[in-house]
Amino acid sequence: MRSFRKEDVVGKTVIETSGAVKGKVKDIVFDLSGGVTFVVQGADGKDVQIPLLKVTGISEHVVVRGEAAPESGASGYGTTCRFCGASKPAEERWCPNCGRSQT
Ligand SMILES: [Zn+2]
Repeated sequence: MRSFRKEDVVGKTVIETSGAVKGKVKDIVFDLSGGVTFVVQGADGKDVQIPLLKVTGISEHVVVRGEAAPESGASGYGTTCRFCGASKPAEERWCPNCGRSQT
């Protein structure tokens, strides 16, 4: 299993698999029950908290599942990433696995 240090994540741009940019990772918080949440500073300067459960991949960007995106494996996995070969929904512009742009 891949593991990440805070330095690997803080400062990275957070992008939804649909292509929408959420902002930049500012900090990481965790609670005693094991939950990890990314604190992301949005374009409007407000902090958004994104639970790690929504993060699908970390590479040069942090890729998160969009609000409306189906759970992985649900349906719609029509294409494969041209970089890592992971299957992904055809309409998604960023690979949920490796986080690279498909355009
Ligand atoms: Zn990929």
